[in-house]
Amino acid sequence: MTGKNETWVYAEQKAGHASKATLQLLGKAVELGKETGSPTVCVLVGSGAQGVPRELAAYGASKVYVVDDPRLELYQSEAYASVVAGLVKEHCPEIFLFAATDVGEDLAPRVAAKVGTGLTAHCIDLRIEKRDGVPLLHQTVPAWGGGMRIDIVCPKHRPQMATVKPGVFDLPVPKSDSNAEVVDVPAQLNEKHFRARTIEVKEEAQRETPLTEADAVVAVGWGAYSLGGIQCPQELAEAVCGTLAGTRPMVDSGWIPPDRMVGQSGKVVSSRLFISLGASGAMHFTSGFERAKFVVAVDQNPKAPIFQVADIGIVGDLREVLPCLTEEIKKQKSSKG
Ligand SMILES: Cc1cc2nc3c(=O)[nH]c(=O)nc-3n(C[C@H](O)[C@H](O)[C@H](O)COP(=O)(O)OP(=O)(O)OC[C@H]3O[C@@H](n4cnc5c(N)ncnc54)[C@H](O)[C@@H]3O)c2cc1C
Repeated sequence: MTGKNETWVYAEQKAGHASKATLQLLGKAVELGKETGSPTVCVLVGSGAQGVPRELAAYGASKVYVVDDPRLELYQSEAYASVVAGLVKEHCPEIFLFAATDVGEDLAPRVAAKVGTGLTAHCIDLRIEKRDGVPLLHQTVPAWGGGMRIDIVCPKHRPQMATVKPGVFDLPVPKSDSNAEVVDVPAQLNEKHFRARTIEVKEEAQRETPLTEADAVVAVGWGAYSLGGIQCPQELAEAVCGTLAGTRPMVDSGWIPPDRMVGQSGKVVSSRLFISLGASGAMHFTSGFERAKFVVAVDQNPKAPIFQVADIGIVGDLREVLPCLTEEIKKQKSSKG
């Protein structure tokens, strides 16, 4: 079967609106499409999301496949994977992108397995490069312990599939006069697709500002373990009116909840201020705050890679530096009233 030279984006929606992560991906898909000469197409699965195709058109979709069925009102792993894989088999697009959200991370690998192609998870960049005249999607991820960026390509199978964390790409500017062709697709489903069924989705109560929206983030790395507790970093976070986060080791050790992990497999933040305390600077971590406006890093190792991405670096033991830093910030704040 010959495929279509199209770039597809899986469109997530909630309460009748496309998710921000979907719109960010659409912006990137349009950019990639300019390189390959391919239109951008969205796949929208759910129930009663009539307004969403117009929204997707404003952000660059020229066609939207809509699978609208009351049984698909909530995300259903097997049923969604089956309808999306069915569309892929029918049209065989060149590229298919998913947001690395809870849904995207469940759905993308299922679809890739069903259609027999590869999938690169948690990309930190995407671009097109030609090999022997053939445009290939270069899917960039941190590798080898987080010390290098490498590109993964999928030359033999289609579609070339990737997931990208929300916040990695900019939100494009919408165009209000754009239209997309809407193609209604019936859902070919039976009871077998609902052996495991989502019956209710309960949102967790947000105790603090979501990390992705925080104005200031204080992230603790394994070096903060020497502090014996989270109290001092929390005090600094409060002094800068920020949110406490951490690296993977600090999440694994139970100091920081999993939804507060920054990085390639955690959250991507774009805060005004980012303070890193005792984190070495593996790219798996630093790719999560590339978009932060101003970065301060404290680490006792002057050669730690974190200093290469910091605007201000403080070399020292956290047990000495942190109380002074917090005190100084509090003093500056109170002198400014
Ligand atoms: C596929 C994959 C995905 C990953 N995704 C993520 C991710 O999303 N987020 C993430 O964080 N990691 C992720 N990782 C793990 C990542 O590669 C690193 O192992 C991790 O980020 C290191 O965390 P760290 O900097 O806290 O610890 P370390 O690398 O151990 O660094 C600790 C630092 O603390 C300093 N230190 C020690 N004591 C003190 C002290 N008293 N005062 C000052 N400094 C001190 C040390 O000098 C050192 O620089 C991933 C790994 C893989 C393979």
